[in-house]
Amino acid sequence: MAAPRPQKHLLLPLLVSLLLAASSPRGADAWGKEGHIMTCKIAERYLSEDAKAAVQELLPASAGGELSTMCPWADTMRFRYHWASPLHYANTPNVCNFKSSRDCHNNKHVQKMCVVGAINNYTAQLLTYGDSPKSSWNLTESLMFLAHFVGDVHQPLHVAFEEDEGGNAIQVHWYRRKANLHHVWDVSIIDTVMKDFYNKDLDTMVNALHMNLTNGWSDDISHWENCENKRATCANDYAIESIGLSCHYAYKDVEQNITLGDDYYFTRYPVVEKRLAQGGIRLAMILNRIFDKKEADTTMPLYVQ
Ligand SMILES: [Zn+2]
Repeated sequence: MAAPRPQKHLLLPLLVSLLLAASSPRGADAWGKEGHIMTCKIAERYLSEDAKAAVQELLPASAGGELSTMCPWADTMRFRYHWASPLHYANTPNVCNFKSSRDCHNNKHVQKMCVVGAINNYTAQLLTYGDSPKSSWNLTESLMFLAHFVGDVHQPLHVAFEEDEGGNAIQVHWYRRKANLHHVWDVSIIDTVMKDFYNKDLDTMVNALHMNLTNGWSDDISHWENCENKRATCANDYAIESIGLSCHYAYKDVEQNITLGDDYYFTRYPVVEKRLAQGGIRLAMILNRIFDKKEADTTMPLYVQ
């Protein structure tokens, strides 16, 4: 855990908020903006020199040299890039396991059009970085998509049940505020953690997660990084983890119109914090594997599954 656990959650007076309180259509959210920024801020700390240089070269000028500023980008493009909408998640037929061949497709059943296929696809595109003649892909967009989708695949409810649209169709109250379950995991838990433990400051939370990566979780990192898949990324494994977490934490003991409060919050926020950190570590690993010239000699090339 990245924060000490207070005895009791302090319910602050309800403030009128501009944040989404009502339900939102499937996939209108991903990890909220904060979640994506945090995942990428963590990743930036673990990039190799070669990866850092390549990322700098690919980032648009508007990024100000920081990958994290571009990590929510894919959500802002959903209306323009309508085809990319299914790439933010994967649905299972209401079962607690993920099978790429069964679950990774869009609503027209085009295979690999889900978050796992997207991670593999944009990784493969980025592997053409430095090619001569120059890659025909828009590698700036490939990088911004990849950084976003590695975040998404770690949000448990982005690999969840088709029936309830990954929790979007489950109406709940988050304390006193109306929400849907998907939004609780995208935004509400993170917002509440930031308010309770980190003075509403994103960088303070990133530092705390980073502290945990160098202390409490340090033994876990090599396990998180373990990726035996030589043919593609390990996005498939991350999706399997997420559907497991959806069943064991996100959906557990939840029914329509339930009020989620302290009991739910205190047992679920450590999962959210860990997934943000894991997403960051794994994004760095993928980018290092793509761009690290020394590693490239010893690593089999990745290509789309
Ligand atoms: Zn997304």
